[in-house]
Amino acid sequence: MMQMKQQQDLAQLIEEFKQRCQQKGLKLTYQRMVIYEALATSHDHPDAEHVYKRVRERIPTISRDTVYRTLALLCDMGLIASVGCARDRVRFDPNVGIHHHFICQRCGTAYDVDWPEFQRLDVPDDLRRVGRLESIRVELRGTCKNCAPEPDDRRQTQHADAE
Ligand SMILES: [Zn+2]
Ligand SMILES: [Zn+2]
Repeated sequence: MMQMKQQQDLAQLIEEFKQRCQQKGLKLTYQRMVIYEALATSHDHPDAEHVYKRVRERIPTISRDTVYRTLALLCDMGLIASVGCARDRVRFDPNVGIHHHFICQRCGTAYDVDWPEFQRLDVPDDLRRVGRLESIRVELRGTCKNCAPEPDDRRQTQHADAE
């Protein structure tokens, strides 16, 4: 069942991607489509290097530079999203819809998490002071089940950005 849902999601993601490219006037070349598909079929929010490796399986002649530039372009146009803030290793997400991310502090994997309550929170005055809210993407941090199999491990790292 999970598998079928993922396939439906994939077809839907690709269809939405085509429509958004049209809306934004971006020509959907074969290369761009393959790069998007490589991202859309990976469920681990890969970085550019991993996308490049996957794309090369289908287009062996493609250059690393093309893949990196295409990802940056799609990201700038809002056609894909970036995850996390590590400058050197930005990860990408084919899903620009509302969802949040749980980042494992040990293995670095980013998992998609639905948490609709966030969308219903009142906007605090402090946020109004700095600008207009357009979307909410929360980055949750902790330890994933692969790294800490105990079912009740709920350790949360609150000051995750401290070096
Ligand atoms: Zn982990
Ligand atoms: Zn995601």
